[in-house]
Amino acid sequence: MTEDDIIAIRSLISSPKKIVVVPHKNPDGDAMGSCLGLYHYLKKHEQEVTVIAPNDYPEFLKWMPADDLSLKYELEKDHSDQLIKEADIIFTLDFNALNRVGDMEQFLTESSAIKIMIDHHQEPADYATYMYSDVQMSSTCEMVYNFITWMGDQSLIDENIATCLYTGMMTDTGSFRFPSTTSETHRVVAYLIEQGANHSEIYNNVFDTNSFDRMQLLGRALNNLKVKPEYRTAFITLSQEELNQYNYKKGDTEGFVNYALSIENIAFAAIFIEDKGNDIIKISLRSKGTFSVNAFAREHFNGGGHINAAGGRSELSLEATVEKFISILPNYLKALNNA
Ligand code: 5GP
Ligand code: MN
Repeated sequence: MTEDDIIAIRSLISSPKKIVVVPHKNPDGDAMGSCLGLYHYLKKHEQEVTVIAPNDYPEFLKWMPADDLSLKYELEKDHSDQLIKEADIIFTLDFNALNRVGDMEQFLTESSAIKIMIDHHQEPADYATYMYSDVQMSSTCEMVYNFITWMGDQSLIDENIATCLYTGMMTDTGSFRFPSTTSETHRVVAYLIEQGANHSEIYNNVFDTNSFDRMQLLGRALNNLKVKPEYRTAFITLSQEELNQYNYKKGDTEGFVNYALSIENIAFAAIFIEDKGNDIIKISLRSKGTFSVNAFAREHFNGGGHINAAGGRSELSLEATVEKFISILPNYLKALNNA
C-alpha cells in the first residue's frame, strides 16, 4: 500500500459510506477477528458497516464483540446481496482471491464498489482497488493494526478493537509460536493488551471450551495417525462416519493436524476429513522449514495458503485421496529431507 493509497483511503472514510467487510469461507480466528476489529474501527468513523461471512463458523469464535451483528451469506442471501449491491467500499480480509468466498464470488466480482484487500496469503490475485498484501505478516489482524495506525488512528484502538485483533493474532501464530511471529508482533500485542485485550480470557474463550465429544474425536484422530518416516510425513484421516459418531460440529477438527506435525523429525503433516454433504475431502496441510505446502496444495489439491500452512480439497474418495497423497510423496523426497 503506497502513501498515496493511504491518503486516498483516509479521505474515503472521512465521510459516511456504506461498507461491507468480508472474510474467507469457513472463517477462522484471524478472518473473523480482523473483520470485527475493522468493523469496530470503522464504526468510530461513523460508517455504516456490515460484516458478511460467506458461511457459518465455530462457536468458539462467536463471543467476540459485535459478532452477533455479522451476517452469514449462506443463511441470509437476499439481505447480503442487497448490502453488497449498495456498498461504496468492500474490504476483503484474510484471503487472496475471490474464489475463496464460495457463493459470494459472483456478487463481489460484479460489484462496482471500491475494493480494499488486506491479506497475508501467498500469490494474491489482482482484483482490489487498494491492496495491502504482505506474506511475511503473522496475521491479517496484525495488518489491520498497521492499517489503523497508517490512518493516523492508533489512539482510537479501544478494548473492542484490541480484543478482536488479539484473537486473530493469537490463533494465526499458534499462540505466538510459529516462525511468522516477530518482535513487532509482540510489540503490537503488548499495545493491544494495554488497550484492554484480556489475553487470558481470550485464550480461554477460544481454546478451553472443548466438548467431551471433541476430545473423543481427537482420540480417534490420533488412533488413525500414520507416519511415513522416509518422507518425514505424518497424516490423519477422519471419515464422515467417525465424525458422526462423535457428533461432529464445525471447528471440532481445528488444530488436529498440528499433532501430526509435532512428531519428532516430521516436517510435513496432513489431515484428510471426509465431507459427505459436499462430496469432498477437505485437506489441511502443515509443514516445518522450507517445504512449501502452499505449492503442494496448489499443484495437487486445488488449494493454497502459506508456506507452512495451507488447505485444499479432493473430489476422490477418502481412500483414493490418501492413495494419491502417498503416491505423490516420492516426488518430494529431496525437498522433504532438506526441509
Ligand atoms: P486450514 O488448513 O486451517 O483450513 O487452512 C490453512 C491456511 O490455508 C489458511 O490460511 C487458509 O486460509 C488456507 N486455505 C485453506 N483451505 C484453502 C483452500 O481450499 N484454498 C486456498 N487457496 N487456501 C486455503
Ligand atoms: Mn490469516
